[in-house]
Amino acid sequence: MLKTDILIIGSGISGLFFAMKTAKKRPDLSIVIMTKETAKNTNTRLAQGGIAVVTDHLKDSFNKHIHDTLRSGGGLCDKEVVEMVIKQAPERLQELIEIGTSFDKDEKGQWDLGLEGGHSQHRILHHKDSSGQEIESKLLKIIKKMPNIELLENHMVIDINAETKKAKTTCTGVFFYEKKHNRIKYMRTRTIVLSTGGCGQLFENTTNPKIATGDGLAMAARAGAEIADMEYIQFHPTALFTGKENPLFLISEAVRGFGAHIVNEEGKRFLFKYDIRGELSTRDMVSNAISKELQLSGKDHVYLDCRHLDARKFYAHFPVIAAHCNELGIKPEKDLIPVVPAAHYQCGGIKVDLNGVTNIKNLYAIGECARTGLHGKNRLASNSLLEALVFAHQASENVDRTIAEFVFSSKILIPKFPKAEQTDDYHSFEILKKELQKLVTSFYTSEERDSDLAFEKIKSLHNDAVSLTETHEITIPFIEFSNMIATSLLIIKQCKAAPNKQMC
Ligand SMILES: Cc1cc2nc3c(=O)[nH]c(=O)nc-3n(C[C@H](O)[C@H](O)[C@H](O)COP(=O)(O)OP(=O)(O)OC[C@H]3O[C@@H](n4cnc5c(N)ncnc54)[C@H](O)[C@@H]3O)c2cc1C
Repeated sequence: MLKTDILIIGSGISGLFFAMKTAKKRPDLSIVIMTKETAKNTNTRLAQGGIAVVTDHLKDSFNKHIHDTLRSGGGLCDKEVVEMVIKQAPERLQELIEIGTSFDKDEKGQWDLGLEGGHSQHRILHHKDSSGQEIESKLLKIIKKMPNIELLENHMVIDINAETKKAKTTCTGVFFYEKKHNRIKYMRTRTIVLSTGGCGQLFENTTNPKIATGDGLAMAARAGAEIADMEYIQFHPTALFTGKENPLFLISEAVRGFGAHIVNEEGKRFLFKYDIRGELSTRDMVSNAISKELQLSGKDHVYLDCRHLDARKFYAHFPVIAAHCNELGIKPEKDLIPVVPAAHYQCGGIKVDLNGVTNIKNLYAIGECARTGLHGKNRLASNSLLEALVFAHQASENVDRTIAEFVFSSKILIPKFPKAEQTDDYHSFEILKKELQKLVTSFYTSEERDSDLAFEKIKSLHNDAVSLTETHEITIPFIEFSNMIATSLLIIKQCKAAPNKQMC
């Protein structure tokens, strides 16, 4: 029987940072990281803008960053969490720098701090426009050298095994699908850390990669974890519109911070009609303003106008964005860039305390899959990588203190799974997935949400999926689709219960 002291599910910033910190302090513990595709296939890798940290104490302050975060969160943030995250940020940043992560500096050798929507000050540290890739590659490099960490790629976790005794549920292991050998296996563990990212793939237009199917959230919910704030899905206002498949390529908020304008079909700026901060308003405000403008015009996109900016500086700051636009024949120095709002970030998730602890014993949730209380109804730009670092740290400190209490479960009841199969049903599930994305998008963006109708339609899609598996048994598309169904139902349920509608 396979076993490990700590099992981390997910190889994004939160899982890797937790692994690195815990493995350093506790070389006696065995740590396994499972990830459903290659380790690099994450939301983290796509992060462009950077990480919000107060470093310039002359112009900026913790209080200003706290104020901006609370304001963006629309009164629904947990102030204690906001203060903890923002005040801890410099220490966590220093840890990234110590492992060789590089952030850009200006000609005077000072941090080249970016500005993004909702921030009252320049405070975003970045590595050009590929900050996530820089952070993730440095973390992966370290992780691969640590003898007590085993990184298992192409290992998809299907479900958490949990036991309930005297009304207390404890997780004791996971069932996972090992792609190479086409087998479902079981691993016992003393602690599980969910760091599985978000659920952007539930929507037709999203910036999230294909892995973002809400697996961790669905698994945690099945095991009995509390889920909160799923009605708050953040839409990023400027995803590149090509009229093609998701995910959509992101044009970072930092581009607006750099001075780009959003204009309509007639080339006119319109955001000031909706908010005095214009382009530098928070994401929810800008996305809603664009959606309203599109409703009025009947068009399917607006534009980002960078033509007035210094082209040399633009290309130096945003080489990835510029290269991507160029590949599509768009020259930002002379062409307008077509953009639309796209589902970007899950503000809610698995409810955790200040240490990333869920209501299930031995189960932690960190990173985007967790609902920590930092974001309220709308995450402030570049606070997500920061949250992932801080909660990975908190969870690591907590595990270290409590791991001695955890014992391997002696009695395991392993349900009999049918043989897993990689069959040709990807195509059938792709069709079902598109229907689900259409349905969730239409429900979420509608002025008059009909939850009951959405429930019925989703259940019918689920039945179609179940009937597809009658011939194929368990397959990866089925597992992902089931998780997407479960996550959609949670969003609809929590939207129905929410007093304030999140718009977009
Ligand atoms: C295009 C884009 C740009 C962004 N830019 C920024 C930015 O500039 N600043 C900022 O703060 N935030 C940004 N964000 C948000 C931020 O990148 C994410 O919130 C953050 O990286 C999430 O990290 P994570 O550790 O929670 O998980 P992720 O990086 O999403 O990784 C999730 C991991 O879980 C694995 N996984 C999922 N399900 C399973 C399963 N069933 N079994 C095994 N493994 C599983 C995945 O394979 C993956 O390895 C951006 C997001 C996107 C999409």
